[in-house]
Amino acid sequence: MDHHNPYLTETPPAAPRSKSLVTHELPPLPYARDALEPHISARTLDHHHGKHHAKYVQTLNELIQGSNLAKMPLEGVIRATARKKAKATIFNNAAQVWNHTFLWQSMTPGGGGRPTGAIAERIDADFGSYETFADEFKSAATKQFGSGWAWLVIADGKLAVTSTGNADLPMMHGQKALLTIDVWEHAYYLDYQQDRAKYVQTFLDHLANWDFANANLV
Ligand code: FE
Repeated sequence: MDHHNPYLTETPPAAPRSKSLVTHELPPLPYARDALEPHISARTLDHHHGKHHAKYVQTLNELIQGSNLAKMPLEGVIRATARKKAKATIFNNAAQVWNHTFLWQSMTPGGGGRPTGAIAERIDADFGSYETFADEFKSAATKQFGSGWAWLVIADGKLAVTSTGNADLPMMHGQKALLTIDVWEHAYYLDYQQDRAKYVQTFLDHLANWDFANANLV
């Protein structure tokens, strides 16, 4: 065997991937796919996490490949592309990656009902009562026309309820997100069809992760 055959070429080693490049990844759900049943079905989470969220991640990576944006963490990409018409597709995918990662943590099996801990005190102080907060949250989530999100945020040092359209998110408004509900139809249509109000009420009664909201307060 001729070990020096000049016509045998070795595959060159892959160029070392720069450590400064970021590949965004789909985070695993923080619970089993059927853990939110009967309120959110495994089928919904299969589609919502496994298809929609996964596609946002995949599209984001494809869109930023080879550009300076590929060196930025997710929040950097969001801020660098926000309100720039030519970068709208990148912003939408990056923001939707962030929003969905935040969404999975905003729900928990056995969640919902009245909050406890510091968030309960802040809700009483800033809304007057849990009931007032819940009414505002339901209103924001059901009245958001078309696709979007409703949020519990800190705005100007106080808790507030807001809603955003499409991929828009609190960090673009100088607010800190504490909890969110996705009101895109893909979030609830398989389980609730057009009844967004029932889905929002179920989120408040059975899914809201107050431990996560408390953790976001600090
Ligand atoms: Fe969604």
